[in-house]
Amino acid sequence: MNDPIRTIGFIGLGHMGGPMAANLVKAGHRVIGFDLVPELLATATGTGVEAAGSAAAAVTAADVVITMLPAGRHVLGLYRDGGLLAAARPGTLFVDCSTIDVADARTAHDAAVAAGMRALDAPVSGGVPGAEAATLTFMAGGAHTEFAEAEPLLAAMGRKAVHCGGAGAGQAAKICNNMILGVSMIAVSEAFVLGERLGLSHQALYDVASTASGQCWALTVNCPVPGPVPTSPANRDYAPGFAAPLMAKDLGLAANAARTAHVPAHLGLAAARLYADYAAGAGAEQDFSGIVRTLRDGTATAPGCEPASDPKDGTPA
Ligand code: NAD
Repeated sequence: MNDPIRTIGFIGLGHMGGPMAANLVKAGHRVIGFDLVPELLATATGTGVEAAGSAAAAVTAADVVITMLPAGRHVLGLYRDGGLLAAARPGTLFVDCSTIDVADARTAHDAAVAAGMRALDAPVSGGVPGAEAATLTFMAGGAHTEFAEAEPLLAAMGRKAVHCGGAGAGQAAKICNNMILGVSMIAVSEAFVLGERLGLSHQALYDVASTASGQCWALTVNCPVPGPVPTSPANRDYAPGFAAPLMAKDLGLAANAARTAHVPAHLGLAAARLYADYAAGAGAEQDFSGIVRTLRDGTATAPGCEPASDPKDGTPA
């Protein structure tokens, strides 16, 4: 059976949202979009998105509303003050694909339900290349029926969608995964720096660790030193890839969630501090694996337990 053609209100047509909306159009859906930046709205119309005059106007005829925004305050602001919940038809499914604080995701979910809507949090991994190629992975939180309804749309924008549990579970999965990634990238980087001081070549350490118990994605895909993995950002002077400020944001969200849940995530909090400092300085426009340079030259700040970021949404303060 063919999936139904839906009318989608799409808010936030930036690096990720622009190509995601374009892929929904390619799949045959009607997409009515809005972004505060007129140039982004104009680019989106070139891909078949219909431009709305405001966020609220983009959702009045929608079956499904998708948001792809910087942080929780933008999502909550638009849902409430921006009038999205008031403008949409009762029963409309709200799917937030932004990466936001778990508590904000639950608040957004509750606000949508209180307004007579249905809601799903569905953050993504895969970055801009994944958004362009429709190969994103979605991590969803919400009821089974809402996930089932959203699935064909997620399939048009990605390769995999995992239903992680109730409201906020998608955001929880996203930040837990990225906490593993941030900590493991620092561990791999520190091991290479220690190996250098001990006279070990990068290739020798790679050949051992990549087939031994040190094996991980940070080593074998995104190797932080040039040479062993020719496609890793280290071979192009750390051009992203996954930009350090995005890792700092996600670790800030993880640190906030750990504090709220009273979890003593010692390494996660230390990684949040190190990435916040790196992203605010040398790493502002670099891949997150470039942190190896600050670890090597000793300029990485000794980790404390508080990330230098807005504790609410993980964006730099
Ligand atoms: P972006 O800044 O390029 O896009 C966000 C867009 O939202 C901007 O175009 C902005 O103008 C728009 N916006 C903000 N407030 C608005 C409002 N009130 N009304 C309408 N539009 C509004 O960011 P991005 O890189 O596309 O990331 C979006 C989300 O996806 C973030 O939460 C980010 O953490 C997450 N994410 C990004 C990546 C990545 O590689 N870029 C990867 C995974 C997840």
